[in-house]
Amino acid sequence: MAPKTCALCKTTRAMLKRPKTGQQICKECFFYVFETEVHNTIIESKLFQRGDRVAIGASGGKDSTVLAYVMKTLNERYDYGLDLFLLSIDEGITGYRDDSLETVKRNQEQYDMPLKILSYDELYGWTMDAIVAEVGRKNNCTFCGVFRRQALDRGAAMLNVDHIVTGHNADDIAETVLMNIMRGDIARLGRCTLICTQGEDTIRRSKPFKYTYEKEIVMYAYFKKLDYFSTECIYSPDAYRGHARTFLKDLEAARPSAIIDIIHSGEAFEVSEEVKATQKLQQTCKRCGYMSSNELCKACTLLEGLERGMASSGITERARKRLEAEGPTPDNLRTIPFFKPPSGNPTVAIEVPS
Ligand code: SF4
Ligand code: ZN
Repeated sequence: MAPKTCALCKTTRAMLKRPKTGQQICKECFFYVFETEVHNTIIESKLFQRGDRVAIGASGGKDSTVLAYVMKTLNERYDYGLDLFLLSIDEGITGYRDDSLETVKRNQEQYDMPLKILSYDELYGWTMDAIVAEVGRKNNCTFCGVFRRQALDRGAAMLNVDHIVTGHNADDIAETVLMNIMRGDIARLGRCTLICTQGEDTIRRSKPFKYTYEKEIVMYAYFKKLDYFSTECIYSPDAYRGHARTFLKDLEAARPSAIIDIIHSGEAFEVSEEVKATQKLQQTCKRCGYMSSNELCKACTLLEGLERGMASSGITERARKRLEAEGPTPDNLRTIPFFKPPSGNPTVAIEVPS
């Protein structure tokens, strides 16, 4: 049987079956269509402007490593005129993040991009190891998600960047759509499909891999021999998300377009401008100065809970002193002021579901 030739270039031997389309294509054509689809997404969504300073949220995992590589490639190929940085958050997870950060440090050299690492320990006085020791393995991802969001914003302010891009791929987004359906959260359902989000005064965040399949990211990393870290977080217990993931993979096996179809369904629920306007009631957190819709931001609300559980150790007090000693610089003050001394004992307001 003669070897199949590539369905795209019709000259080279086909090396792989493209997960998104089922086409048999060669390696070079795969790289080209993969990169071009990301480029088209970036251009169609007008994600960047010339001269933008863009931080790539880098975990050392496949998604963000491929994102860093592709952003660098496209920035050079199409002359976007972007300044690219790597921004990593160290959650303090022994045996996981310490190893993956080593990968990011190598990526820094391989891709010749400045790297900033910011840890939960230095920002909040808590590592995820310590949080799990305190709260157990149940809500740890809630803490981690809230802390990461704020940590990325603070890191971005320190780097003085305009924009953060993350490696969220089409599978992640489709999975989140399914989760929001299962929770009945229509407002989030539309929002989670947005390629770019920006609140008042906040740094733009976007997902250039919104339409990129996870399987293709893995394939790209493999054929490009990219240096990435593939272990899962040791505290990853989100069973409910696991069901959504399995369900999505089953659907994809039956019909590969299912992933994109689910994203499109989510998009149909995008909240109207009017609804968005009412969400702008922003203030700043009494404790740390981060933007918040309540007296305390979500991170500080969680921190106060942790401190109550560990009142004697004074661990966050230590962190606050350290941050104060470093002092606010014009850069990190640009959008997000750093810790202020807590004023009195503010009560925790109840989150109003949006
Ligand atoms: Fe954090 Fe949970 Fe992700 Fe681990 S799985 S890094 S604890 S959010
Ligand atoms: Zn706060």
